[in-house]
Amino acid sequence: MTDTEVCIVGAGPAGASLSLFLSNKKIPHVLLDKAVFPRDKICGDGITVDVMNTLKRMGNGMLEDFIEHSEMDPCWGFAFHSPTGKQIRYDFKDAGFPYAPFFTAKRLELDNYLVSKLNHQYCTFLSQSAVTGINRQENKVDVTYKNKEGETTISCKIIIGAEGEKPIVTRLLGLDHFREKENLIGALRVYYKGVKGFHENRHLEFFYDKKLLPGYFWAFPLPNGEANVGLGMTSTAISAKKANLKNMLADIIENHPVVSEMFADAEPLEKNRGWGLPTATPNRLIAGERYALIGDAAGMIEPFTGKGIGPGMVSGRLAADHIETALQNGDYNLMPYHHHIYKYYKSEIKVGYGLQKTLKYPFVLNNVISLANLGAFKNWSHATMVKSWKQWM
Ligand SMILES: Cc1cc2nc3c(=O)[nH]c(=O)nc-3n(C[C@H](O)[C@H](O)[C@H](O)COP(=O)(O)OP(=O)(O)OC[C@H]3O[C@@H](n4cnc5c(N)ncnc54)[C@H](O)[C@@H]3O)c2cc1C
Repeated sequence: MTDTEVCIVGAGPAGASLSLFLSNKKIPHVLLDKAVFPRDKICGDGITVDVMNTLKRMGNGMLEDFIEHSEMDPCWGFAFHSPTGKQIRYDFKDAGFPYAPFFTAKRLELDNYLVSKLNHQYCTFLSQSAVTGINRQENKVDVTYKNKEGETTISCKIIIGAEGEKPIVTRLLGLDHFREKENLIGALRVYYKGVKGFHENRHLEFFYDKKLLPGYFWAFPLPNGEANVGLGMTSTAISAKKANLKNMLADIIENHPVVSEMFADAEPLEKNRGWGLPTATPNRLIAGERYALIGDAAGMIEPFTGKGIGPGMVSGRLAADHIETALQNGDYNLMPYHHHIYKYYKSEIKVGYGLQKTLKYPFVLNNVISLANLGAFKNWSHATMVKSWKQWM
């Protein structure tokens, strides 16, 4: 006998999405998180169209509710600024979308929003409950967690690791922890107020300065006149260059001709804080007998942009389908989920690492941005994005 069908460790966007999809399938489950919500998570706070697509698939008015929510800030475009100061800017305000293709929201708000939508008929949500032990047996998995009331063990048929970048489930399952520098980005975030010069349609701004490459700097507008500001670089480059991201961030804010203007009257609201971004690679095993990993625990982040909220939620959605099949068939090996994920993201992973490589070569990046700005190419790429995103909306 087990206490529940599925136990999910971590209620970030990946774990909360999986919970919502399992509830739609009427599958009882326990969702554990060591934090108390609302809780912060170091992130760029950029929300992409795959998030909206996942909300749409959740049904129950989730998408409509999300786009009306005051903490979700619609952003209608983005700009890449090249090392020589050229910029390519895409605006989608007049593209005929039903809503903005990007949003920003502090993770404090977004993650709390998703948790507030959990369906308590099927989901037992235990916050402030840290998983401390996992014992995978032939016919069940025992999961031990610790909270104010002490230590408790529950049994489930399937355990899901959605615990983010610090791989507690992987470790407790006794699996090898995949950690290759080529598949990791290091990044810093600082919230600011008073950043000026954002585009009137609230664009996401990416800066590829020569001193930062292959790293990049971002500034994203947030509600209430605040901004999410940060810097990211692959771990291989951080080691090779002995890069100090904190100093680089300060330098670009002070000295970059466009950035320094934007930050002339700006004030940081916190000290900069760092976190790792595990990027997607099929070399990472993300499922097996009675377990699967989703979101950052599975290293689902897109390698070029650092986007992980959408892939985390998509991996939750796909995992729910495979869990349903496993429970129906009584065959708890979730390797079909592993194969499904890497088939689904095959081209995105290939293109992402390809684009990541261009960041090593400023002249290539300059040429790409100059070429991309040519009228015909820009119209074509704009139309291509519009066409593909409309399918997601
Ligand atoms: C600086 C930075 C900028 C980024 N910018 C963007 C961006 O703009 N857009 C984007 O899409 N992505 C971005 N990402 C990536 C994004 O933040 C992650 O991909 C995303 O948070 C993954 O969600 P998740 O649900 O897998 O994990 P998380 O959001 O990390 O959630 C994991 C949860 O597990 C819980 N947990 C951990 N250990 C335990 C335990 N032992 N017991 C119980 N619970 C536990 C934690 O409390 C947490 O709530 C960025 C990342 C960084 C570091």
